[in-house]
Amino acid sequence: MRFDILTLFPAMFEGPMTESILKRAQDNDLIQVHYHDIRDYTTDKHKTTDEPPAGGGGGMVMKVEPLVSAIESVRGEDDCPVILTSAQGRTFTQAVAKELAQYSRILIVCGRYEGVDERVIQLAITDEISIGDFVLTGGELAAMVMVDAISRLVPGVLGAQWGAEDDSHATGLLEYPQYTRPPEFRGLSIPEVLTSGNHQAVEKWRRQQSLRRTWQRRPDLLQTAPLTDKDRWFLAELAQEEREYYVGTSPDL
Ligand code: SAM
Repeated sequence: MRFDILTLFPAMFEGPMTESILKRAQDNDLIQVHYHDIRDYTTDKHKTTDEPPAGGGGGMVMKVEPLVSAIESVRGEDDCPVILTSAQGRTFTQAVAKELAQYSRILIVCGRYEGVDERVIQLAITDEISIGDFVLTGGELAAMVMVDAISRLVPGVLGAQWGAEDDSHATGLLEYPQYTRPPEFRGLSIPEVLTSGNHQAVEKWRRQQSLRRTWQRRPDLLQTAPLTDKDRWFLAELAQEEREYYVGTSPDL
């Protein structure tokens, strides 16, 4: 899978994109990440990429000509998605990562300052994506988040020993708690079932922990998660436990 990143700050990607799993994925040619400096597409001698907003007001706005020229030149005849990182876009979720991982190539445009001239969006952007309801100083960190989450869904990137299938959100639920050696630390032990060698019991424990965690932390996810009858039964038991707890502790009214 190929990512083309259009940015004013290509050096920001060093580190996050050149270490660990993403580095190995690039070394093995499973993903390719290309950086394009938007400044290279300016035509004036000062290489101007931003101007004050039309109508006045504070800050600067990214100019339309260099951005559209950069996008058209990098995209060529390809009809791949051109994503603008934007606090106003649709929210990036695991489902969106999965959707984008189906493409063989995507372009990501990193905004800066007060954002981009609206005509860039009208002329050259196919999708606007936000990584959450907060405002960043620029789209570079958002682009890195997206490349990371999408890349780990590309076959081979995680390697055979690490599956993405059980990860939080991949199953529609949050993942179960994880442990590793030592078996005991400061009085806290690994749950016995995990060292029992009984794979069926481990699977059952993990599923139930996953359901419990989701029910406690993100009950909204249970509305859309694919659940079996056994899962629903377990969730009903959790609800019953909670009712009993509140009845037991309710003050005299
Ligand atoms: N004035 C803009 C607004 O109110 O929507 C915010 C501009 S922000 C300071 C500069 C750039 O950072 C944006 O153009 C966008 O590319 C990026 N950015 C900021 N927050 C983001 C978010 N939550 N997700 C993705 N990109 C974001």
